[in-house]
Amino acid sequence: MLGQRPNPSEMTAEIWDVIVIGGGITGAGVLLEAARRGQRALLLEQRDFAWGTSSRSSKMVHGGLRYLGQGDIRLTRHSLLERERLLEELPDMVIRQPYIFPIRRGKFPGRWPMKAVLWLYDFLAGIRDHQWLSMDKLMQLVPGLNRDGLVGAMRYTDSLTDDSRLVARVLHEGCGHGGRACNYMEVNKISRNGELLSLTAKDLLSGETLSFRARHVINATGAWADRLSGTEKKVRPQRGSHLFVPAECLPVSDCLTILHPEDGRPVFVFPWEGLTCIGTTDLDHRDDLSFEPVCTRAEVDYLLKLVNSQFPQTSLQDADIISTMAGVRPIIASGKGIDPSKERRDHAVWSHDGVTTVSGGKLTTFRLIALDALLAAGLIDAADHGANQTPKERMFRFVVSPPHRLGHPLAVLPSGIALLEQIQWVLENEMVVHLDDLLLRRTRIGNLLPQGGRAVLEGIKPLCQQQLGWNDAIWDAEVVRYLDIVARYYSVPQAKTSVADAA
Ligand SMILES: Cc1cc2nc3c(=O)[nH]c(=O)nc-3n(C[C@H](O)[C@H](O)[C@H](O)COP(=O)(O)OP(=O)(O)OC[C@H]3O[C@@H](n4cnc5c(N)ncnc54)[C@H](O)[C@@H]3O)c2cc1C
Repeated sequence: MLGQRPNPSEMTAEIWDVIVIGGGITGAGVLLEAARRGQRALLLEQRDFAWGTSSRSSKMVHGGLRYLGQGDIRLTRHSLLERERLLEELPDMVIRQPYIFPIRRGKFPGRWPMKAVLWLYDFLAGIRDHQWLSMDKLMQLVPGLNRDGLVGAMRYTDSLTDDSRLVARVLHEGCGHGGRACNYMEVNKISRNGELLSLTAKDLLSGETLSFRARHVINATGAWADRLSGTEKKVRPQRGSHLFVPAECLPVSDCLTILHPEDGRPVFVFPWEGLTCIGTTDLDHRDDLSFEPVCTRAEVDYLLKLVNSQFPQTSLQDADIISTMAGVRPIIASGKGIDPSKERRDHAVWSHDGVTTVSGGKLTTFRLIALDALLAAGLIDAADHGANQTPKERMFRFVVSPPHRLGHPLAVLPSGIALLEQIQWVLENEMVVHLDDLLLRRTRIGNLLPQGGRAVLEGIKPLCQQQLGWNDAIWDAEVVRYLDIVARYYSVPQAKTSVADAA
């Protein structure tokens, strides 16, 4: 289990087989795959686990119809097989979900091309789970949908998860195999020291600078990868944003794929943890990566426009939005300067002077990405890599059982007790350092309740104080810090918020 935060200075004496930098899904996957092969593996994360992109995705464990549309059969097949594996191994966390793709007269794609694509999609996944929805059936399922030119819809299945809970689950598993992980450790320098690599990292809690030694280093820092790779820049950071609104404002029971009236981009409208989520956008992200990304005014307007054009009776507005969420995709740049949404989504692995860097890819394929990184670093051989592309054995073996399904405060709030039990479990088991770790990533209270869940803070104060040893002064400081983060990065912006966007 992840457990409590270790004292990082106690981990400096050891010579690690591998140090993994970055506690998103990629780094967590590398830690797990290394640790379960008996490697002495340590993961260092600069902020909190999943603080980067891996808590800000569209939460889909999916093959990705768009990749198939782009002719990328290999990526689609790998993603679909991983989806099926995760559905089977983590049934409480990865949930199969119907998706609806409305078809409009004279608009691409029509019914039959879409049917052919879905036949192939299901074939690659080894399932058969798509059907045509007549207008009557479609209107029963999505009553408010704009009928203009609508002839029906294709319905198929993919799946949804809670991305940052998935990261925590993978970290629990990696630690169960003997891996170690520590958050709030910022790696600043990697240098060669004979056969070994030396890492200099700052403990952001104590302010101390510490040195670690390892035989191998895997830089899994996603959008930040260029900072430590030692090579020329390869990553093109691209921002994608989401809006969360109450389900009563926009009730959907299935994931809808809707084409934006301005540019024809597919955007999802989907049910998530009792709310409706709308996203995403796809823009070059030129803001400083040291700060959390922000959903800009222009992106809010773009997403509201989509909803209001597709659901004419809805007239969704700012006041309906509970929270926003922006993430930065680590896209491996083609260098062709093409439209951000046309860049490929697959990952890349490259090595320089003993440091193996892995960036790009998807949440869904984290296991395969981890294997590629371990192969490039020389930590596994080609036979092991090949055999594990479609392994027979389970990936998740340890029992990790929070008292209730985590991340769903709306469902548990009426009793209140269940929410407190969840929080108690998280505080005991998941290395919470700051209040935002607890409320934005281990649970999703910050996104799911108005004003970041301000109303429930007093209720959870005694647990935090008891478990984390926070006196009143620390609690007050944590609340100020948390509400400031919510206001800056998860709220509805009033004016233009990004220099890049304003330009
Ligand atoms: C809007 C959006 C929607 C998406 N939707 C989906 C989806 O539905 N399905 C899907 O499969 N994929 C999706 N993706 C892609 C997926 O989220 C990412 O590919 C994945 O989360 C990347 O994980 P990562 O671990 O590589 O990067 P990250 O999650 O960003 O992790 C990198 C970590 O490295 C840390 N770090 C950086 N520098 C340092 C340092 N110097 N020292 C220590 N730590 C450091 C960061 O703090 C960060 O936590 C989406 C992405 C976006 C942006």
